[in-house]
Amino acid sequence: MGEFELIRRYFAAAPCARGGPGVALGIGDDCALLAPAPGEQLAVSTDTLTAGVHFPDPCPDAFGLGQRALAVSASDLAAMGAAPLGFTLALTLPSVEPAWLEGLAAGLAQMAEQCELRLVGGDTTRGPLSLTLTVFGRVPAGQALLRSGARPGDLLCLGGAPGEAGGALPFVLGQRAPEGDACRHLLARYWAPQPQFDLGLWLRGRATAAQDVSDGLVADCGHIAAASGVRLVVETARLPVSSALAELFPADEVLRLALGAGDDYLLVFTLPPEQAPALAVAWPQAQVIGRVEAGSGVAVLAADGQPMTLAQTGFQHF
Ligand code: ADP
Ligand code: MG
Repeated sequence: MGEFELIRRYFAAAPCARGGPGVALGIGDDCALLAPAPGEQLAVSTDTLTAGVHFPDPCPDAFGLGQRALAVSASDLAAMGAAPLGFTLALTLPSVEPAWLEGLAAGLAQMAEQCELRLVGGDTTRGPLSLTLTVFGRVPAGQALLRSGARPGDLLCLGGAPGEAGGALPFVLGQRAPEGDACRHLLARYWAPQPQFDLGLWLRGRATAAQDVSDGLVADCGHIAAASGVRLVVETARLPVSSALAELFPADEVLRLALGAGDDYLLVFTLPPEQAPALAVAWPQAQVIGRVEAGSGVAVLAADGQPMTLAQTGFQHF
């Protein structure tokens, strides 16, 4: 199968490549043409997933990889309060294996449909397996959710129970035998994270700062703290606890995963206190987990209210 047949069969012919609102021209020309409405800004983000770094190599679950690759990129749009528009896929493959490619394309298509993102272009090359996805969203000018707006007195909030994708890792890596409903739940959170688009849209005009948790809760809170010039206080007693994690791991490990494991793609955000009642009604799974103070950095308070010291906060490549 040649390069162009591969592109046509697995990508250009996919339902998510058919175009849609805001896509004036999709796959097939030198560029795609995107057309956000007048008064909107284009939100753009790129993520690379490399075999052996971001997912197991070899990767038996091509479908899961396709879903996950798009979800992690799409989550950046959600974190900006952007509505989905389209994405491109730069795919590097060591060889053409039709069954594997079919799985990858199907996983991508499924997540694309779920996120309402259209595949508008890409590139296909030979080399060690990696995927680079660039996602495009649209947001009314000036209304994107930035990391830089948190103010002392705001509440620190999280879009759900953290640590579940991190809890799936021993099963993904084959260190533990995958059995039971709780394990299946964690694996689904790892392979098919759900970008919180609706929450992001709801936060527009309400939240003072937001981002998605990709490197670990404490590490990512650190980015908001630095960008906003404030101190974030995480009260561990207020963290939502995943029942699946609680079933499979001892309590101290659940807490370690909640604070330090990345890959959940929940939104973490700061909210003026007067917005808290509306949040509780509209997003019962979201939770106030702490507060914003004057100062710098991130403080984590143990259940007894005393500051904890953490060995390592979040994943870094270098
Ligand atoms: P060019 O040489 O002009 O960069 P290519 O031959 O690489 O174009 O690609 C032809 C068309 O197919 C372009 O519209 C490109 O965006 C699209 N394309 C290439 N690879 C992929 C892919 N993996 N997924 C989606 N579209 C792709
Ligand atoms: Mg090209």
